[in-house]
Amino acid sequence: MANIPYKIYLTEKELPQYWYNLKAVMKELPDPMLNPATLKPCTKEELKQVFCSELVEQEFNAKDKYIEIPEGIRDFYRMIRPSPLIRAYYLERMLNTPAEIYYKFEGTNTSGSHKLNSAAAQVFYAKEEGITTLTTETGAGQWGTALSMACAFYNIDLTVYMVKVSAEQKPYRKAVIETYGGKVIPSPSDTTEIGRKILAENPGTGGSLGCAISEALETAAKTENCRYVLGSVLDHVLLHQSIIGEETRIACEKYDIKPDIIIGSVGGGSNFGGLIAPFMGDKIAGKNNIHFIGVEPASCPSLTRGRYAYDFGDTGKTTPLIKMYTLGSGFMPSPNHAGGLRYHGMSPIVSKLYHDGYFEARSVEQTRVFEAAVAFARCEGILPAPESSHALCVAIDEAIKCRERGEKKTIIFGLSGTGYFDISAYMSYNNGSMSDYVPTDEDLEKGFATIPRI
Ligand SMILES: *Cc1c(COP(=O)(O)O)cnc(C)c1O
Repeated sequence: MANIPYKIYLTEKELPQYWYNLKAVMKELPDPMLNPATLKPCTKEELKQVFCSELVEQEFNAKDKYIEIPEGIRDFYRMIRPSPLIRAYYLERMLNTPAEIYYKFEGTNTSGSHKLNSAAAQVFYAKEEGITTLTTETGAGQWGTALSMACAFYNIDLTVYMVKVSAEQKPYRKAVIETYGGKVIPSPSDTTEIGRKILAENPGTGGSLGCAISEALETAAKTENCRYVLGSVLDHVLLHQSIIGEETRIACEKYDIKPDIIIGSVGGGSNFGGLIAPFMGDKIAGKNNIHFIGVEPASCPSLTRGRYAYDFGDTGKTTPLIKMYTLGSGFMPSPNHAGGLRYHGMSPIVSKLYHDGYFEARSVEQTRVFEAAVAFARCEGILPAPESSHALCVAIDEAIKCRERGEKKTIIFGLSGTGYFDISAYMSYNNGSMSDYVPTDEDLEKGFATIPRI
């Protein structure tokens, strides 16, 4: 084998000291969040009623390219990071490709994904500010799990509104959250006004992420010393996830790896935005010509088929208006979609970069995603998360192109998590019951009709 080790681990000393703030280097900034009542940009004061104050400062920071990671967060990061950058020698061999393939694996911590990078930061700041309780929503459960781990470490109470179908279908996720001390409430619930309203209108509903967000927000607003935290989409979450990109950049510099293509999966955009951050900064500055690809499910195609518009972040239409690629807050992916990445919207930073032509977006159907996931598991050993397998699938496509064209490109993709909690999706792939559903233009129109006209 070549002189690049199979697993590249940075030392504890090399752990990044700074997050990389993409907004400080973007030529044009995303449009500001708007207060839906006044249609004026949200002020810091308004947001601080819901979010921790330091996070709001970070949300508005478009000035500092590097933001220091406080020692109290580095404390936590030392427990779970650095994560390895792995040279996919076995995948290369299986594909018989001249391409060099690497993946940054964020699934080595117990919660199983990159979400812990932002959970730790958000809980740390809450603690610093004297907050005693946090609320959040979780769909598939990765965010709730990550947050419960961080809350246990920093000793803060946590209430998780978990989409009801997920709580029923994923009892193990719920058990892990409870093991770390988090309280799980299946949503919609009778603990909030919006929950009671939704239950009265649709008694049998299995809930949705947007509805769980509405419940968590309402509880945060009504509970003393309580704030709401969100696991993706917002600028400060992307900032925290830039630790992935910074570690990748340092590892690349150490071994003189020069990526031609960087690929990530996109749900709300945080792991992709974090992975590409320093590389995209250099691209904007004209220092590289990396081809970035964001990959989403064909059944929830926010970037490839969505609209770039102001929209609500939740079904209950209670959040500020966010300018983003969206399918409409009323959009629901078809029930047979098992592969995660089901959010209707997209990070405003990722949306703006996409709108301005800085990267390519592709969509893939879930049976192809699982085909790639199974092939990867069998040769590289790791059982990948379905979400991450979207990026993996396109990395394989690109590596095959290299073989056909005799090109020796260097490809890096984000393997954002493990698939240990997605066994039911693997079961449905293995027993042949998994199918694809690509929404028709008519389906999408129904979602677009829920986008506010402003
Ligand atoms: C949540 C999640 C995603 C999607 O969220 P982003 O904010 O787009 O990163 C991707 N992969 C895994 C493993 C996840 O848990």
